[in-house]
Amino acid sequence: MKKYKIAVVGGGPTGIIAAISAGKILGSALKEIILIEKTSLGEKLLLTGGGRANITNSKPIKEQLLKFSKHKNFLKHSFHGFTNEDLLDIFENKGLEFKEEWNGKYFPVDGKASSVLKILKEYLDELKIHVRLNSCVELITKKNDEFHIKIKDENTVTSSKVVLATGGKTYPKTGSTGHGYKIAENFKHEISPIKPGLVPFKIKDKELQKLSGMTLEDVEVSFGNDENKVRGSLLISHFGLSGPAILDLSNFYTSNTTILMDLIPNINETELNKRIMDDLGSKGKMLLKNYLKFYLKNRFIDYFLKTTAIDGDKKLSNLSKKDRIKITNNLKQFIINIDGVLHEVAMITCGGVKTNEINPKTMESKLVPGLFFAGELLEPAGLTGGYNLQMAFSTGFLAGKSAAKSFQTEHSLK
Ligand SMILES: Cc1cc2nc3c(=O)[nH]c(=O)nc-3n(C[C@H](O)[C@H](O)[C@H](O)COP(=O)(O)OP(=O)(O)OC[C@H]3O[C@@H](n4cnc5c(N)ncnc54)[C@H](O)[C@@H]3O)c2cc1C
Repeated sequence: MKKYKIAVVGGGPTGIIAAISAGKILGSALKEIILIEKTSLGEKLLLTGGGRANITNSKPIKEQLLKFSKHKNFLKHSFHGFTNEDLLDIFENKGLEFKEEWNGKYFPVDGKASSVLKILKEYLDELKIHVRLNSCVELITKKNDEFHIKIKDENTVTSSKVVLATGGKTYPKTGSTGHGYKIAENFKHEISPIKPGLVPFKIKDKELQKLSGMTLEDVEVSFGNDENKVRGSLLISHFGLSGPAILDLSNFYTSNTTILMDLIPNINETELNKRIMDDLGSKGKMLLKNYLKFYLKNRFIDYFLKTTAIDGDKKLSNLSKKDRIKITNNLKQFIINIDGVLHEVAMITCGGVKTNEINPKTMESKLVPGLFFAGELLEPAGLTGGYNLQMAFSTGFLAGKSAAKSFQTEHSLK
């Protein structure tokens, strides 16, 4: 039975980069590193950024880390050890250029996630990584400093070190079925509750659904607490709400039933009140429905007025104090009732293998020496903007490198 130095389980971006970083340290003389993948390599990677792969973000590392809320400290080492620039370099060295788009998002110039995957595969070939596809790892055990990796319907593979990079539990067709959590639990690792992240919300309101296709470019959404306010664009679709602001907000979703939306985050409440009071005099003859065009998109105005229960044909000068308060409140805190999330299109999984049981400087388990974790399988979940792929690559790179170094250290001592 062949014994590998390192076995990487999971052939998404995390597992692939882990195999590459380990291969760069251990050399490419023999097939001593195995990458075991349940389906085929990078199935989910091919879907990213609408098939264009928003691979990372130009923001400084400190800001990138803030996108992971309470897990920012855990990710500090991996993000500094393999930065957004390091990531782009490995592709640019092979001729794939990237361009920066709105909000610092990086995409390959040719607009193809497949170009990213192609280059990763080239590295795997060059480093003679043994890639085993259509192989589902069912169980991993450790006996006498050796890991035994049971592959479904096949022989067991053994290795000195294991990197577990099996992803989360979204888009199961791509292979991410949550199997890695069970493998981790077998090693007594604790899994924090998992839930869908970066996911649209369902709504029942038929009137709002009629606005399907409309984008509100700049809104601030929250569940009513100041901590997790998100600002950005929102898309109304036939099933509900999506767009970057909504997807980001969904990472903080518990079982909330309403979203509060500030429709004009550029103008604070005091300023808005003052403006409206001034306009009552100077624009008194204007109909409310026309006046609202200063603040809202035309198509949204009817819905706004229905929800606010004020006649849009009223002249500004005829508005009562109660009307004014209602209008201001609804512009700044518009309430949308939601009906849960659309699980099947969640982009990421929030929660996972708990970070307090993993050494952030190496990604090695604190419970099982020689076992390394990386990528979406872990607890941290980032916001939209390329941060999740950066996390996959940074943690994967560190896990692969640490596994290889740990192997070298042990064998230089023997
Ligand atoms: C539609 C969509 C769009 C996205 N767009 C972006 C984007 O533009 N930018 C961004 O930063 N992030 C994006 N993401 C998130 C990003 O895809 C993930 O963060 C990233 O793929 C996580 O990488 P991973 O390698 O950890 O997990 P995965 O990519 O899920 O890979 C895990 C791999 O492990 C394999 N596996 C699982 N169990 C086993 C087993 N038992 N044995 C063997 N193999 C196993 C799976 O088959 C899979 O190939 C998007 C996600 C989706 C779904």
